[in-house]
Amino acid sequence: MKSLFSNKKLMKTAGATLGIVLAMILVWMSVTADEPGRSTVAAAMETESASYFVTERDFSALANDVKSGKARSVGLATEYALVSLEDGKRYYVRTETHRALVAEALKERLTSAAPAVFSLGNIQPPAPPLTVLGRSLSPVLLTLLGPLLILFLILQMNPMRGMGGLFKTADKPDTRFKDVIGVEEAKEALQDIVAYLKRPQKFAELGAKAPKGVILEGHFGAGKTLLARAVAGEAGVSFIALSGSDFSDMFLGVGVRRVKKLFELARKQAPCVIFIDEIDGLGRRSGGSSGAETENNRIINALLVELDGFKSGSGIVVLGATNNVASLDPALIRPGRFNRTCHLGLPDVDERQALFQMYANSLRMAGDADFRQLARLSAGLSPASIANAVNSAALLAAKEDAPAVTQVHLQRTLEQTLMGGPSSPGQSALGAEERERIAVHEAGHAVIASVLGLGVIEKVSILKRGQALGVTWVTQEQDATLQSEPAVRARMTMLLAGRGAEALVLKTGSTGAANDLEHVSRMAFRMVTEFGFSRQIGPFSYAGLPDQERHGIHAEAIVEAREITKDVEIRCNELLVEHRGALELLTAELLEHETVTGDVVRACVAAESTPRALAA
Ligand code: ZN
Repeated sequence: MKSLFSNKKLMKTAGATLGIVLAMILVWMSVTADEPGRSTVAAAMETESASYFVTERDFSALANDVKSGKARSVGLATEYALVSLEDGKRYYVRTETHRALVAEALKERLTSAAPAVFSLGNIQPPAPPLTVLGRSLSPVLLTLLGPLLILFLILQMNPMRGMGGLFKTADKPDTRFKDVIGVEEAKEALQDIVAYLKRPQKFAELGAKAPKGVILEGHFGAGKTLLARAVAGEAGVSFIALSGSDFSDMFLGVGVRRVKKLFELARKQAPCVIFIDEIDGLGRRSGGSSGAETENNRIINALLVELDGFKSGSGIVVLGATNNVASLDPALIRPGRFNRTCHLGLPDVDERQALFQMYANSLRMAGDADFRQLARLSAGLSPASIANAVNSAALLAAKEDAPAVTQVHLQRTLEQTLMGGPSSPGQSALGAEERERIAVHEAGHAVIASVLGLGVIEKVSILKRGQALGVTWVTQEQDATLQSEPAVRARMTMLLAGRGAEALVLKTGSTGAANDLEHVSRMAFRMVTEFGFSRQIGPFSYAGLPDQERHGIHAEAIVEAREITKDVEIRCNELLVEHRGALELLTAELLEHETVTGDVVRACVAAESTPRALAA
């Protein structure tokens, strides 16, 4: 992937590719031409090739060393390049797939003295140690191998193998609830666990039932591990973390012994938090009778025995993380075990803003970043995805050699995260006619969104991105949890406006509206069958019906849903006719600039109502 990218970057245009081919021919020509003094150095390299094959480095190391002038000489063979540095260090690089890149790296250095570049004969790395061993295996060695193998197997069966980290993670974390942004409800729900861990004896004295286990349910990256650490941190107790899959092993019985060891350790460390990540990895009991399945059942049973055996005031709480509680063994979530589930929701717009601010703190940011806009753009992303996007933006800035990370870097990585794939500028593949149609279509969406005040228009683009030929990106100031009927209809109007604009301006429709129509139809059907927005069917939900009753009335619902879409279409077309001026202005802007901001859309709508302002 990485090398693909660097290749892609390098071969941006056909011209560059040609340049590389020429440079390659040049380099290989020049290295095959005998230069004075070549033979002795090259011959030395060939005879000492084994010393180069000790260290392998990748192509970028070679490129850096050549660029910085550290490389003294480079010997090129068919599959390898041997490099000797000014400081005497030696290494080799596999070049079979990078010949063009090697040539490119060396191209600029052809005229200067360093590094000296030679061609080498057919050098090969020395035989790998294993074959050497194989050749020299004596009968004595063979007899020694037997006991060694048995020793190895015994070590494999040690229940703590692969759990070496277990002891190290029994620390007291510094993490506090305030370090976990969002998930307020979960934090609230875990307060009494913290209280219990602080004074387990108090609970016992009062005769209260001590909490034993809590399941943290949430998306991948929702911050379950961080929250679990914060519980231990707030209570000031030890934290033991491991994963559900750490219990499984190829040897029978090892998993069960690991469970016992784990709780032995926990009792010594108490009060403490045991955090089992991906607890569904062990929490799925099956009715099967294969070895692996029954072993799994035994591990679960061992865990249940430990949980049931907790004395009141033991001061041990087990937090298990999963992304789906339904996938857990019902026995695990019975009262007295993991009898509580905390759901970690995705961050809302304010929390996302705080997350961007927090992660951006560690970056060198240019100017004032608009964290609010980033928060609007990232609806539906988990804290981990946001951290990832910020990091990608920093990488992007580094790749461009920018002095600091800018808002634009962050926007671009967010777009990539949400819409998949970078936009492809140029659009040479699109004909002028198709390009105009896409511009008209997106202008239709954008103008109606602006006229109806549907949130913040971030940008409109006619650049192909993933599956979409164009994009009108509208975000919300606040994450909405419910929508009024007029708001639903307004959104449908905007969705139909792409198709409507094509019909109005170009007199024909196209297949480009298929996705919009799918959304509109789904919304109309739900209006009738779920939301009670129907005149004929009334305040009635299909969801309340038994399955076998649902089919007969679909026909009726579809008729009414279609009527709704037709109503919306009429309204949409009226608005488009009314704002045709703005539509045409924006189409022209899009054809000219390909991507425009929401400000341009607003300016087009404003200009249409005051034609003189545009002329001025
Ligand atoms: Zn569309």
